[in-house]
Amino acid sequence: MSPKSFSESLLTWYLPDSRGMPWRGANDAYQVWVSEIMLQQTRVDTVRSFYLRWMRQFPDVKSLAEASEQDVLKAWEGLGYYARARNLLKAARLIMEQYDGVFPSNLHGISSLPGIGAYTAAAIASIAFGLDEPAIDGNVRRVLVRVQNIRAPLGSPKAEDKFQTAARNLLAPGRAGDFNQAMMDLGSSICIPRQPRCSECPVHQFCAAYKAGTQAELPVKLPKPMVPTIQVIAAVIHKDAQVLIARRPSSGLLGGMWEFPGGKVEPGETDEEALKREIIEELGAKVQVGACLGDYKHAYTHFHVVLRAYDCELPHDEPQPLEASEIRWVEIKTLESFPMGKLDRMISRALAQGET
Ligand code: SF4
Repeated sequence: MSPKSFSESLLTWYLPDSRGMPWRGANDAYQVWVSEIMLQQTRVDTVRSFYLRWMRQFPDVKSLAEASEQDVLKAWEGLGYYARARNLLKAARLIMEQYDGVFPSNLHGISSLPGIGAYTAAAIASIAFGLDEPAIDGNVRRVLVRVQNIRAPLGSPKAEDKFQTAARNLLAPGRAGDFNQAMMDLGSSICIPRQPRCSECPVHQFCAAYKAGTQAELPVKLPKPMVPTIQVIAAVIHKDAQVLIARRPSSGLLGGMWEFPGGKVEPGETDEEALKREIIEELGAKVQVGACLGDYKHAYTHFHVVLRAYDCELPHDEPQPLEASEIRWVEIKTLESFPMGKLDRMISRALAQGET
């Protein structure tokens, strides 16, 4: 196989703006960076409107670095995986402090920013700075597996080594940015997971799986681990016309976001016992548990959550932020202005609509 011919065929097929992505054609590192972070774990159709809003609110590194964590999390609300937003903010502040506001232009500098892994660093390096770095995401892995007929299971060290070698051999020197984006587009539109559209594929003449007829069997995947379901309870604590919300510590899952106090139901506990324990641990107060307000469900990548919310009161004690970074009594109509994860937002909207 001639690597040059492969890349030529691919680049002839590639249309930079073919999927109506507002970040395409940009070679500004900030725009490439934000779009690549948003696209992790999130579909192009979802990212489009978030990206446009984000660029209006934070058009450059400086405006992002000067924003509050609350504003950044609020702008991110609905995209999920909030560590991405917190890392964008951290990295923007670091670029202002350590690089005089200029995005680092070499792979080492880009990789050292918070929240930037090997794939994102290579994407920024190639698209924004023209460096010959292959960016290998899930779509590109699938294409490489099939083009080279790689039987090693995805995620195994053996397969990862093969991807690096294959991508470097196929890369179009001097046009790595377009090459990487073309590979991503090929994986998302033609070399799709089920029933790849080989008859429309611009590189089918170079594809070992197509020649061998094995494309439907690839990639070989390791068996998926079981996804556990976690039972969680939350207290909607009323006082007069207000409810109590707590802000999670900055690190960890949903860090910096606001929530209704509560937590996991431990084995053998009833919901009421779990709520009483959690509210003492979190707020140092004895809670009176009232009616169940409803069940709310959400699927994260590695676990599912079933959250049951209860109407509650604190008849004797004043709450203290023992585990949260901050607690506040707020009117229900203002809840929408606080950044929240999916489940707490479902509760807050149900409260605002008088459904609970
Ligand atoms: Fe994928 Fe088929 Fe193209 Fe091979 S020929 S890269 S299997 S779409």
